[in-house]
Amino acid sequence: MFKLVTLFVLCALTSAWGWQGHDSVVLVAKEFFDPMTIKYTDLLLKDSKYDIVKSSTWADVVKNALPWSKPSHYANSDEKHVDNNGTCGKFSDENQTDPLFNIIAAITNYTERADCHRRQPLDFTQRLEALKFLLHYVGDITQPLHVCGRNKGGNDDKVTFGNKKTNLHAVWDSNIIEKRISEISQNTTNEQHVRDYGKYLAKQLRGRQGVYADADSWVSSIRTKFNKFNSRKSWVVPIEWAQDSNGIDCTVVWPSYLEDPTQDLSLKYYEDAKYIIDLQIAKAGYRLATLLNKLYYACRRFV
Ligand SMILES: [Zn+2]
Ligand SMILES: [Zn+2]
Repeated sequence: MFKLVTLFVLCALTSAWGWQGHDSVVLVAKEFFDPMTIKYTDLLLKDSKYDIVKSSTWADVVKNALPWSKPSHYANSDEKHVDNNGTCGKFSDENQTDPLFNIIAAITNYTERADCHRRQPLDFTQRLEALKFLLHYVGDITQPLHVCGRNKGGNDDKVTFGNKKTNLHAVWDSNIIEKRISEISQNTTNEQHVRDYGKYLAKQLRGRQGVYADADSWVSSIRTKFNKFNSRKSWVVPIEWAQDSNGIDCTVVWPSYLEDPTQDLSLKYYEDAKYIIDLQIAKAGYRLATLLNKLYYACRRFV
């Protein structure tokens, strides 16, 4: 456990998916919300400055005001099981049984706090906060470099994307998705671009073609294992999500980059990565909808 705590510092200063990534996750999720989820989230957000899509980046905005929440945006795999030069590793159940501040702990914690099945529900403000953290963290955990400790999740790898100097982490948070969104949408404004992208991914999900044929498996553990909150079982779901994203680190994220670290990542690297981005955003959106539908179907007493 303590080894894991020391590893957190390695990933300091990571930001999240850029706003386009987080907004896209919630735009996809909204397409799969049950009526009660729509009603209840509308109620929670009724006096908020931002709607549910724009609330997706609230957890980033409050990082400085709530410094304890900073390490909750990422996790690193168990030090003993890191292989492939630290590009990927294992997230083990034993390391997740204490209330550590990492993204796995955070998703488990806020899932429990958001749940309308609780015998003693939390007050309105706390239930709203739990929703806003989930909107964000269920997105972050699908970003492969948010579950990888190597070089602070790629923050220390200076790279080029479209002739601009940046770092590998930022490429996965923002550059690839920005380019991908402008490729999918012919619209003129940023906001319309992102809405088009959300619709595009929701359509892929409904079509269940190709890699999207597996969509039910992305959410199956929510249905079967997030049943008993406060039990060891509830950790299983975000551990599985972290492991799934981490697998992309040693198959795509690092190997294609390390082949030639001086390459411009907006070229060949981008062509492979863009499909991974689509898949990860679609996964996050579908998981978020399935999770909120499960938590909120019992919220009738509040609406
Ligand atoms: Zn990030
Ligand atoms: Zn984040």
